[in-house]
Amino acid sequence: MTGRSAGGHVVIAGAGMAGLRAAERLRAAGWDGAVTVFGAEPHLPYNRPPLSKELLAGAVGAGGVREAHAATAFRRRANIDDVVWEPGARIVRACLAAGTVTLEDGREVGCDGLVVATGLRPRRLRAPGTHPARHVLRTVEDAVALRDRLRPGARAVVVGGGFVGCEVAATARGAGCEVTVVEPMPEPMGLVLGPELGRSLRRHHEERGVRFRVGRTVTELAPDAVVLDDGSEEPADLVVESIGSLPNVEWLDGNGLDLSDGVLCDGLLRAEGRPGVVAVGDVARFPNPRYDGVPRRVEHWCVPADTARRAAATLAAQLRGEDPAAAGDAPFAPVPSFWSDQFGLRVQSFGAPGLGDRCELVEGDLRRAASGIAMVYHRDGRPVGVVLAGIPASRHRPYRDLVAGAPAPV
Ligand SMILES: Cc1cc2nc3c(=O)[nH]c(=O)nc-3n(C[C@H](O)[C@H](O)[C@H](O)COP(=O)(O)OP(=O)(O)OC[C@H]3O[C@@H](n4cnc5c(N)ncnc54)[C@H](O)[C@@H]3O)c2cc1C
Repeated sequence: MTGRSAGGHVVIAGAGMAGLRAAERLRAAGWDGAVTVFGAEPHLPYNRPPLSKELLAGAVGAGGVREAHAATAFRRRANIDDVVWEPGARIVRACLAAGTVTLEDGREVGCDGLVVATGLRPRRLRAPGTHPARHVLRTVEDAVALRDRLRPGARAVVVGGGFVGCEVAATARGAGCEVTVVEPMPEPMGLVLGPELGRSLRRHHEERGVRFRVGRTVTELAPDAVVLDDGSEEPADLVVESIGSLPNVEWLDGNGLDLSDGVLCDGLLRAEGRPGVVAVGDVARFPNPRYDGVPRRVEHWCVPADTARRAAATLAAQLRGEDPAAAGDAPFAPVPSFWSDQFGLRVQSFGAPGLGDRCELVEGDLRRAASGIAMVYHRDGRPVGVVLAGIPASRHRPYRDLVAGAPAPV
């Protein structure tokens, strides 16, 4: 990027959690120039995990979108009081060589530094046919629209048995819906948890009334059903499409960046080869030397904060003309973590269980997930991840330490 204003101007693209944390961390890293956050949504940053849990269940934010946003909005810290927020302002283009971004309303804004925090959007089913009540879940509007459909007796088909899909299934069942999950893998959440724990959590759902059609895909939509690849039909008053996400990167096209799966970054979170451009949150694809050198995107709640800390240190140092490698945590090697709540069962992960080549049950009985399970995932003989289900938070620490303390591969 090139210099645009006397004191310097950083544009943060995306007013989600990662955009918020980036603003906070830029100030914490000593950047005192202008910061503007442009967000496509008409809201200030809010927390997404409740969208599939408390908010969808109506336990918080009952009413409309305004109440739902108020119940999930992040508190803004005093150190970003002078940051300018522009919600409802989508960036449609960036010219990194000129140091400008262009907004949907035609404005062109100059910047010395750019933080890419534009996150993801839901992938949509491409099956032919139509259904009158197709839902996705990413925004507070999505959650309110879906919540309004969760009525006792309504037949809900959740397409995709990943974490969000399974949370929606549990919440919908809790609201009295007849719920079926359609999942192409042999077990729900299997890509991350492996078949043993996936099967155990499937049983946890089935015992509470959720039906699963595993190993099946949707081939067609009908007005009151979905058609599966074995020709069978699942009656559906509503369809929830939970089949993964796509990174919001099209606005960066034409700048020579690798945008094949989010924004490819180096270990300092710089968009490769571009000084003054960093990426944070779900959209950033970065290497983690804790595991290997392969850049990956990580869609966990902890990632906006972790990446923002490193990226802000990088960008602030670059804008001051200092060596960014000397700033912040080096090497950047976070311990990823996420949680999921399904029928009152807290599933907590530390590390990267999905990278494991072998898993070992170290606590509990897979036939009774609710009574407490600990599964450790090994890769080349090293513990790379642990998943706990129904284990109280007071007992998490040793498990986290196990993966945090594992030596990096040689
Ligand atoms: C329903 C749901 C439940 C979840 N539950 C959990 C959980 O239990 N545990 C867990 O660890 N994680 C959970 N997550 C994941 C976690 O919420 C995300 O990892 C986190 O929200 C990522 O934040 P982000 O700011 O990177 O991206 P986002 O939250 O996607 O924010 C990106 C923002 O950028 C905006 N934007 C996009 N394009 C543009 C543009 N061109 N110009 C301007 N703005 C733009 C978007 O509108 C959006 O507001 C959940 C996610 C969802 C959707």
